[in-house]
Amino acid sequence: MDQLLVALDVDNAVYALEIAARLRGRVGGLKVGSQLFAAEGPPLVRRLVDEGHRVFLDLKFHDIPNTVAGAVAAAAKLGVWMITVHASGGTDMLKAARRAAVESAAAHNRSTPLIVAVTVLTSLNDTSLLEIGVNRPMERQVEALATLAMDAGLDGVVASPLELRLLRKRFPAFTIVTPGIRASSAPADDQSRTLSAREAIDAGASYLVVGRPIIAAADPAAAADEIRRSLET
Ligand code: C5P
Repeated sequence: MDQLLVALDVDNAVYALEIAARLRGRVGGLKVGSQLFAAEGPPLVRRLVDEGHRVFLDLKFHDIPNTVAGAVAAAAKLGVWMITVHASGGTDMLKAARRAAVESAAAHNRSTPLIVAVTVLTSLNDTSLLEIGVNRPMERQVEALATLAMDAGLDGVVASPLELRLLRKRFPAFTIVTPGIRASSAPADDQSRTLSAREAIDAGASYLVVGRPIIAAADPAAAADEIRRSLET
């Protein structure tokens, strides 16, 4: 249960809180991404934290070190449990994020949030990498950015099912967060490469992010329970 995180990819707080209430005690955390955050902002995050949910704030920070440090400090003050940044922001930015998380959490009597790095967005391919001036193949770019994140003291990375085995082998102690989870029988939506929850955990994922298969289900609690059960056997 602890490993199952649900993406609250909805556009308003009423709907988000309703799903959160249905999933209380059934999942390991709730992911708030840019869509919901842009719509409802810190008050919703505060409310979810106050209601006892572990909140994964997935805003993929990528800016100059001072600005990212400020954003991470504000998120840590809110009491979120995990935060994403872009590894391509570079070592100074990653270290600034880490330092801000530790200092802000201590100053506000919160637990230090985990900071995990996005390596290469899964919407990019080798051609789009060339367009932005990256000449090495995808796998090597992902590995290089994950190494940067580790050397900067981050807790882990976000990795698609495609990269999971490689990263787990190379970074045994990393927290690896994996979206793109679908039951083998379910529609893949717009995910191009999927694994079942069980397969992803077996391949080395620490946490799974599941959105539509749970939040768009007629009964989100039952859908979450079914995935949980698949992890227990
Ligand atoms: O609905 P679904 O299960 O596809 O949701 C997966 C969640 O994980 C979404 O919030 C999506 O933005 C996020 N995500 C992803 N693929 C990545 C990184 C994040 O699907 N590579």
